[in-house]
Amino acid sequence: MNNQNINEENSIIEIKSLTKFYGKFKALDQVDLSFPKGKIIGLLGPNGSGKTTLIKIITGLLKQYQGEILIDGKQIGIDTKKIVSYLPDRNCLPDNWTVEKALTYFKTFFPDFEYDKAKNLISQLGIDLSKKFKEFSKGTKEKLQLSLVLSRNAKIYVFDEPIAGVDPAARDLIFNLILNNYHRDSTIIICTHLISEVEEILDYAIFLNRGKVYLREYVDKIKESSGKSLNEVFKEVYRCAPIN
Ligand code: ADP
Ligand code: MG
Repeated sequence: MNNQNINEENSIIEIKSLTKFYGKFKALDQVDLSFPKGKIIGLLGPNGSGKTTLIKIITGLLKQYQGEILIDGKQIGIDTKKIVSYLPDRNCLPDNWTVEKALTYFKTFFPDFEYDKAKNLISQLGIDLSKKFKEFSKGTKEKLQLSLVLSRNAKIYVFDEPIAGVDPAARDLIFNLILNNYHRDSTIIICTHLISEVEEILDYAIFLNRGKVYLREYVDKIKESSGKSLNEVFKEVYRCAPIN
């Protein structure tokens, strides 16, 4: 395994010996990770590798696990939920809500939510605030949720599969939304199985496979030492990965 040591001062999330079972199935197996502060981090791996499970633990949605996690030096709880802005891998807002209702909900729920910023962002995208979620396409729903999540003034933004199922134009727009709107000193975690589509915007990559960490390193270093693109390295890692 190729590891970049990140000292604890430079890390925003510290994970030690994290193991998660669903019944008898081990979805995460002794995961040790440091997430570097202020970077754009790819949590990468094929479907079923444990990305969403890890993210749900970090966001406090899954509470039963073994191991230790510190987020900005704190145990997971109310304090850490306040600093993590999370885009789930599926639309979580009720279909019969209007965009205006979603804006009000975010304002009520998250003290760090910048209502005007979100409203401007959504208007710029040409989305009608009085329409209901069910009236929008998958791509538009994705952009809407992304605008809401990005309008929180958070230390950590987590996007779970933000580009799955959207066309290349929507993908570019989504990346531009992320790159132009996050707070510069915060950390971004993008979970995806679409490595070639995200590699140009990532600073740091974590490869997961079957619940284990296979590689964690700065993308520049991976490219420099291998002479290959992240996607090529990814394919090699997974070709060699044992099937257990
Ligand atoms: P990824 O996000 O990388 O696709 P997940 O974390 O969603 O991976 O899933 C990892 C593994 O855990 C998969 O094999 C999946 O089937 C299993 N899994 C996920 N959620 C549950 C659950 N609630 N109950 C049982 N197994 C689950
Ligand atoms: Mg997932």
